[in-house]
Amino acid sequence: MMELKGKKVLVVGLGKSGLAAALFLRHKGAQVTVSDVRSAEALARDIPALLEEGIMVEAGGHGLLTFRRQDLIVVSPGVPLDTPELVQVKGFGLPIIGEMELAARFLKGKMLAITGSNGKTTTTALVGEILEMGGLPALVGGNIGVPVIELVEQSNDNTWSVVEVSSFQLESTIEFHPKIAVILNITPDHLDRHGTFENYARAKERIFAAMDEHDCVVLNADNAPTVDAAARTSAKIFWFSLEHPVDQGAWLEEGSLVFRGAKGAEIEQVMPLKRIPLKGSHNVENVLAAVVASRLAGVPAETIRRAVEGFQAVEHRLEYVATVNGVEFYNDSKATNVDATAKAIAAFSSGVHLIMGGKDKGSPYTVLNDLLHERVRAVYTIGSAAAKIESQLRGVVPVLACETLAKAVSEAGGKARPGEVVLLAPACSSFDQFENYEHRGRIFKELVAERGWKTWQPA
Ligand code: ADP
Repeated sequence: MMELKGKKVLVVGLGKSGLAAALFLRHKGAQVTVSDVRSAEALARDIPALLEEGIMVEAGGHGLLTFRRQDLIVVSPGVPLDTPELVQVKGFGLPIIGEMELAARFLKGKMLAITGSNGKTTTTALVGEILEMGGLPALVGGNIGVPVIELVEQSNDNTWSVVEVSSFQLESTIEFHPKIAVILNITPDHLDRHGTFENYARAKERIFAAMDEHDCVVLNADNAPTVDAAARTSAKIFWFSLEHPVDQGAWLEEGSLVFRGAKGAEIEQVMPLKRIPLKGSHNVENVLAAVVASRLAGVPAETIRRAVEGFQAVEHRLEYVATVNGVEFYNDSKATNVDATAKAIAAFSSGVHLIMGGKDKGSPYTVLNDLLHERVRAVYTIGSAAAKIESQLRGVVPVLACETLAKAVSEAGGKARPGEVVLLAPACSSFDQFENYEHRGRIFKELVAERGWKTWQPA
């Protein structure tokens, strides 16, 4: 545990986890400053509470002097590590860590950490519920909502902290050391920040950097970059696969999920595939990963089955919205990259009217071509990526430029026939037209509800 009393600490970036980190540091007796490039007006909601706690605030830009004056710098996940002021002070040897690393140094008990390009939130929420049903005291946090630093106070020697970790958070870890770590998949995402796929994959692998042979890592046997990562860990490796049996881990056998705890050990039946309440084979992968992680934490297979059967899709993750005039509407606003969109399309056999677009993240859309050709009737584009999407998908599927989500819902809803599906799975982030993906998903649901009222006829 590090000593913070009297230390000068700068928190860079005043997001949710930055705010939580600043308050934590202050309560530990540090002299805390927060620096954010956003204006004082934009930060107005949080500034009074910070000042009241005796935390100084620098808004509207970073001052190099502010950075140089510190003993420690805590960076928020949204702040790139190549921010010039950070690069400069790093050169002077100033320690720079993230909120996740700070929390890891103070958390008591064991940590079960989950990363991947897609499926983190779903799997983290599911593992949390399984552990709870298994009677293990579980604290759930990280990228999923509650900053991990806020779990510290409740943690004790018996708790399991079930933590969702993003590649941004992993970039600045050092001693972060889970007992069990899961990498669900590594597919292209955030190339705008990490530069290359290789850098991105290496950031994900940092999840097991401090783990050793007493720890367990759970990897996806069907995803090549994750298989590749196995060569670089000294932890015990467990696998999950949709496609074939594995030595130790979970897979599918005759329509059931099964688990084996060690090579050659007895195979345990966990549950029939058809009892999983979530849509799409990607969610079967998430469940398989959750089965392995929670079995390793000591939950019996029977308890896992009960918890999975009662689990509901997390909002904005391939969430069923409504059926209007025989057309089903699904909200997958969290499909902010191409792979998540591919998985969403694959969850339906045909007749999909797909709403795509938003802020482009640098990955090619052409990997969707086969799925689009097979299952999608038309793509309705929105937002700033529209022209790029249209140019890449031309000739594969009809593309209709709609600009706004309202127009897209109206066009797609009008064209879809009974039995078909309107799917919001944008493959892009939302920041060009919305506050965030939740906002985009909520607006979509409102538009669908409105459509329902307008077309509703008394029987
Ligand atoms: P994350 O927290 O990693 O973003 P979520 O559970 O929030 O993961 O899901 C993000 C998006 O990815 C959603 O659109 C969801 O439907 C899709 N998804 C969920 N699990 C997977 C998976 N295993 N592989 C690919 N896509 C997935």
